[in-house]
Amino acid sequence: MTTQERDKAYVAGTYNRFPLTVVSGKGSLVKDEKGREYIDLGTGIAVNSFGVADEVWQQAVTAQLGRVQHMSNLYYTEPCGKLAELLCRRTGMKKVFFSNSGAEANECAIKTARKWAAEQKGPEYATIITLKNSFHGRTITTLAATGQDHYHELFQPLTPGFVSVTPGDAAELETAAEKYSCAAVMIECIQGEGGVVPLPSEYLAAIRQVTEERNLLLIVDEVQTGNGRTGDLYAYMHDGLKPDLVSTAKGLGGGLPLGATLMGERVENVLGFGDHGSTFGGNPVCCAGALSVLERIDEPLLAEVREKEKLIRHLLEGAPGIETVSGRGLMIGVKTVRPAGEVVRACMERGVLCLTAKDRVRLLPALNIPMELLEKAVRILRDACA
Ligand code: PLP
Repeated sequence: MTTQERDKAYVAGTYNRFPLTVVSGKGSLVKDEKGREYIDLGTGIAVNSFGVADEVWQQAVTAQLGRVQHMSNLYYTEPCGKLAELLCRRTGMKKVFFSNSGAEANECAIKTARKWAAEQKGPEYATIITLKNSFHGRTITTLAATGQDHYHELFQPLTPGFVSVTPGDAAELETAAEKYSCAAVMIECIQGEGGVVPLPSEYLAAIRQVTEERNLLLIVDEVQTGNGRTGDLYAYMHDGLKPDLVSTAKGLGGGLPLGATLMGERVENVLGFGDHGSTFGGNPVCCAGALSVLERIDEPLLAEVREKEKLIRHLLEGAPGIETVSGRGLMIGVKTVRPAGEVVRACMERGVLCLTAKDRVRLLPALNIPMELLEKAVRILRDACA
């Protein structure tokens, strides 16, 4: 059997994979089993922050592998605490809970918000307001938080206590906050799976006002937007938001599974002994890799990310077959005249890997993709759109 035949025979059919088997890569170039090279503008969906087989990350990971690969959370290991310290120093948050994925990072944020609200306001204050068109994960609770009905249909009943409101409509948010006994509002600053749709700044200001006036927590899901992706360390930083809880994953681990829930002042001590846990959470190898990622997401790199956005917009905005370009930094959505899936397939034939998000082509290249390579790939995308 070929790799693809074996996969189809034995792996659960939850993914509609492209007919491409990746066997190796370096930076923003990956190779299939015939040795054909592709420019990768998807990075495993915003995971490989510094591309494939990045040497600094590889060294950090293999050095830790040679020391100890796992010890459970019954004991201390050095990388876990160091990563938590760096996350807190870079964000002003106070504590971190580590898990293994974005969905789990959100689960922890939700549990923390519910416990905080029960203690501060009463157990009935359990409702979490999320936004329509959001995406927060695939567990039964994070599906309930996800404001897209088509993800819910086959999996009822979901966890109760979630309502979703229309993004951009401050009055609807206000009404929901009045009507329900709420613990928190949970948002993505740019709805990634929803089609790379940024929330308007005025709406973010309205969210801040509602959460402050009504004593609600603000949870910002930075699973996709986080870790340098949008040209700041976290996307909420562009708009001066002060979240109480930040969830992140994907690019933090640089290619190994790692989720993190960052807890601000109001909630830093909400979770105590026995309230939450994860066998693999804070795994030393994943944390060592993440440290090497986070240490390099500095201002010069973030400035580079912003420059790369300018290049992409310069090449794509107004080009034939392109309707709009949305997003920020290296999280870009392109509304094309041709169906997005067709454009992605055409790009793949021409040696460029990109993604879709709803009806848009989505670009999530490595933060350190060389300018010339990015330009080459985006020109190929532009030709495929025309
Ligand atoms: N939250 C957001 C904003 C996401 O984009 C995703 C995944 O795409 C998730 C949560 C879920 O992350 P994971 O697949 O790591 O559970």
